[in-house]
Amino acid sequence: MDTTDSPRSYRIAVLPGDGIGPEIMQVTRAVLEAIAPKFQLDFTFVEGLAGGAAIDATGDPLPAATLDLCRHSDAVLLAAVGGEQWDSLPARQRPEQALLGLRAGLGLFANLRPAQILPQLVDASTLKPEVVEGVDLLVVRELTGGIYFGQPKGIFSGEAGQRRGVNTMAYTEPEIDRIARVAFEAAQHRRGQVCSVDKANVLEVSQLWRERVLAIAPQYPDVTLTHLYVDNAAMQMIRNPKQFDVILTGNLFGDILSDIAAMLTGSIGMLPSASLGAPGSVGLFEPVHGSAPDIAGKDLANPLAQVLSAAMMLRYGLQEPAAATAIETAVLRVLALGKRTGDIWSAGCDRVGCQAMGEALLAAL
Ligand code: NAD
Repeated sequence: MDTTDSPRSYRIAVLPGDGIGPEIMQVTRAVLEAIAPKFQLDFTFVEGLAGGAAIDATGDPLPAATLDLCRHSDAVLLAAVGGEQWDSLPARQRPEQALLGLRAGLGLFANLRPAQILPQLVDASTLKPEVVEGVDLLVVRELTGGIYFGQPKGIFSGEAGQRRGVNTMAYTEPEIDRIARVAFEAAQHRRGQVCSVDKANVLEVSQLWRERVLAIAPQYPDVTLTHLYVDNAAMQMIRNPKQFDVILTGNLFGDILSDIAAMLTGSIGMLPSASLGAPGSVGLFEPVHGSAPDIAGKDLANPLAQVLSAAMMLRYGLQEPAAATAIETAVLRVLALGKRTGDIWSAGCDRVGCQAMGEALLAAL
């Protein structure tokens, strides 16, 4: 980072990917370019191939050159990968491998997914407005441990010729400690509450999880810690989601709870996410949605999840919270003006395409 007088320079790896990726990325880059001078920022965008686009060009969903570009950048902005034309490839060669390769290659162990109900979009939720109005929560999910990675795993031959499927849910103390710290630090910048979700009444791995989270908590005296069993947490997220600020949980529980959180908002085109590694490492910022091949190239995509992912990049990756807030405020403004892409449109609003939404954002900035 430079001195306060000269612009702070950041190199951003840009991976537009497939489907609607290039359209929403174009809008996002324009937004970042527009705010840069206002906050004395200087972005260098370097594009890389990932997903189906990379398979077509190189045969590899995550070419070594792309991972190298990402490792040598300050942050990675990814759109989405995937599409029918690559679905018949063997699993290890499919576009989604790019996501796994990026997570592993960048050491990304924390996934942050905010779910905020914007006042203008309360009706997009399938839940009653009085239940979702004002919801503003963040799911912090451990991404590289737990039952998806624990050993032993596999389908083994068992007694009397009956096969046995096995997965192992395991967490080490350092794995729990580092994800807990991410949640506590996020809460310090929010409303100061962490709810740790586990199944400590049944699972030993959850008992260790709870023990470690309790041990870390005193280092964050400004944060209040509570605990819920995962079954109760799922119920509470539907019954009274407003009670949550930061939800801290493991890989499997987080996979499920983050989708519940997404559905609270009812609008997949609005949801950003961040994947982070150890402090100082390169983070990955991407919308929650996929490549939406059904609307690709038709100027129908909602670019706001991608734009809000860029805001998360500024807040969590580059420590530029003021610029992040400027982008989030611009999003609220265009929605207040009634601008809506098809996925969030309702009667009385001004239906716009991806490009026009981008122009409205630039005007709002
Ligand atoms: P999807 O999220 O791409 O689309 C689901 C539905 O939501 C579609 O009707 C789509 O048109 C709509 N939608 C999604 N994003 C939108 C946006 N920004 N604006 C407006 N509408 C939007 O999920 P899918 O259809 O299950 O998957 C399509 C492809 O994306 C598949 O190849 C899948 O593997 C891939 N995928 C990639 C990621 C990722 O890159 N992280 C995530 C999920 C799915």
